[in-house]
Amino acid sequence: METSGRPFFYSGYILVYALRQKMICLSGVKVSGCFEKTWFHKIILPARRGLLAGLLAGSALSVAQAAEPDPFQIFAPLAYPQPVNLYHSGNGAPGPMAWKNRADYNIHVHVDPATHTLSGSETLTYTNNSPESLSTLWLQLDQNIYQQGSRGAYAAPQRLQDHTDGMIIEAVALSADGKETPLTPLVSDTRMQVPLPQALPGKGGHLTLKVSWHYTIPGEWGGRTGFSQNEDGEMYEIAQFYPRMAVYDDQRGWDTAPYLGQEFYLDYGDFDYSVTVPKGFLVAGSGALTNPDAVLSAQEKARLAQSATSETRIMIRTPEDVQAIVHQPQTETQTWQFHMANTRDVAFVASPTLLWDAARLNLPALEGSDAKNPAPRLAMSVYPAEAAGAKKWDRSTEYVKHAIEYFSGKWFPYPWPNAVNVGGHGAAMEYPGIVFDGKEDAGAELFWVTTHELGHGWFPMIVGSNERRNAFMDEGFNTFIDVYASDHFNHGEFAPKHDVEFAPQTGHPADDIVPVLKDQSAPVLMTPADLISEKYRHSVTYFKGAYGLQLLREQILGADRFDRAFQHYIALWAFRHPTPSDFFRVMESEAGEDLSWFWRGWYFKNWGPDYRLKSVSYVNGNPVQGARVQVENKGWLPLPVVLAITWMDGSSARLTIPTETWSQRNTVTLQIPGKLAIRSAVLDPDHMIPDLNRADNSFTVKLTAAHQFAPSAASTPTVQGASAP
Ligand SMILES: [Zn+2]
Repeated sequence: METSGRPFFYSGYILVYALRQKMICLSGVKVSGCFEKTWFHKIILPARRGLLAGLLAGSALSVAQAAEPDPFQIFAPLAYPQPVNLYHSGNGAPGPMAWKNRADYNIHVHVDPATHTLSGSETLTYTNNSPESLSTLWLQLDQNIYQQGSRGAYAAPQRLQDHTDGMIIEAVALSADGKETPLTPLVSDTRMQVPLPQALPGKGGHLTLKVSWHYTIPGEWGGRTGFSQNEDGEMYEIAQFYPRMAVYDDQRGWDTAPYLGQEFYLDYGDFDYSVTVPKGFLVAGSGALTNPDAVLSAQEKARLAQSATSETRIMIRTPEDVQAIVHQPQTETQTWQFHMANTRDVAFVASPTLLWDAARLNLPALEGSDAKNPAPRLAMSVYPAEAAGAKKWDRSTEYVKHAIEYFSGKWFPYPWPNAVNVGGHGAAMEYPGIVFDGKEDAGAELFWVTTHELGHGWFPMIVGSNERRNAFMDEGFNTFIDVYASDHFNHGEFAPKHDVEFAPQTGHPADDIVPVLKDQSAPVLMTPADLISEKYRHSVTYFKGAYGLQLLREQILGADRFDRAFQHYIALWAFRHPTPSDFFRVMESEAGEDLSWFWRGWYFKNWGPDYRLKSVSYVNGNPVQGARVQVENKGWLPLPVVLAITWMDGSSARLTIPTETWSQRNTVTLQIPGKLAIRSAVLDPDHMIPDLNRADNSFTVKLTAAHQFAPSAASTPTVQGASAP
């Protein structure tokens, strides 16, 4: 692999250099140590070996990477997939005519453990704020993924083994003026179309639907929702349990992508929901419990009040309480009522086996309809007795409290009353205000999974991106904020984040991402979520998605510019539906940087940086007159890169070579001020960028007796040529 061949950059460097050395030697100029025969072997030959290693490693790269980087392609203007219009502005903000529809729910469900069924009814008020009138409505029946022959079963054949009958719709009716008009829905896989007798007008038209249904609750095989067996009895992790409005948006009208096992896309609204279960069951759900007097004992209420002022957890339901409950079979039922405002979904857990603890969240009191009782905002955990333990769920609420308070302070205030962590069969799944984790989780894994699932409260629960299509905007963004949460918690007790989601091999993301960038089968981040196989789900969507933002923050924009822009993105799109292009545009406009090259290379392609330290020479062969360091760009993602120089006396200096260096060339010669001979020159010495081939990044002189110098009294010199961003 050779450089551009432009006349300015001599490709036959080694020959030229050798000739110059000879001339200098013949002229009799003597500079300490530099012109011994050994010097040639120690400096020039390793550089040539580095070139050879680079050639060999280069063969493993993708076609685009193997070709010489082309600045015309790298820096070409990027056409974003979603256009600017009256709904999406050029600065990435919602446009002057932006709108979103709204779905408010009043739901009642009954969970029957004897038959493992859930039956429910809902009153759904749908508001059409779009400019168009709607002749039909679409709802999502996600339980139908468990039907035999569902599209999701064929998309993921492991689902072909177990099934239920899916969600049985009993009745759908339009409710107006105290009158109910039955409607005939049309069910297609996980979607239900409801034709309306009269079109629903746009710009604020609303209607009320009444729907009733039932379904068989899947077992653990249901994954994100199902019942499972604890040592003291069954527990129900219940989600996707009611017919949910599909989103009608400004991108494609009704978004009716079927549920194939990926995630969800939902509108916002206020929820009142109630859950009827056998007496003795504990129900923990999204939002606030609004009828504590009806379902909690006096002792539980007293403990709950105590937790509202406690920085550490207070047990609300103890192991002794659970033993008393599970050994006293109940025939009566109880109904738990919850309220949650401005949310895209709700979920809950129900079981007699659950311990319950809580501590206060240090957040301001809520206003509006979420200011209903109970006023305190709590971090809570519910889990079976077998999950308790000093390194296990005894610490869960501490992690919940940290995650919610930290993310609130750093990015956007948490908008809901409580946050609940559930120790269940291990779905590792997020819902607004409640997350389903694993009772077996412990140690750092419990911290990381708790923080991650609660981090989804921000992406996509607050920032309502379309996670059924753009997975990197929820998993990638969330994993990114989790990295810093790990650093922040308890003086870095679980830092750095180093799990299946991020830097899985060594904990160093710049090194661990390289195999992904070199994998020619790896999908790009812009790949639709349903097309990303399990093999690449974590490595691409989570890890590469998160690490892209980390590179943007730490290597391109700097923390101050990045954080302000990212906070702005969150605030602009909170409770709305941003597209990938909105994100790209906000970050460019708000941070003040054309990032086309970065979006193209990292999000639309799997390009990586690859620099080579091509040569080190001295002006007139004399280190005192200065050095020339040639750096070559061989990669298609020209991230800013640090060059570290160390002189023979051990002093050192660093400079950052900015991206613009490569806009018209692939090799640059940097002038280093005169001093002693250079002992080493290293590109990206701290492994801060994912350089695809590090074998050619450095130049080191092996020290011999002739190279021993007394330490210089002079201070570290400033290196000219480029400055840090
Ligand atoms: Zn996630």
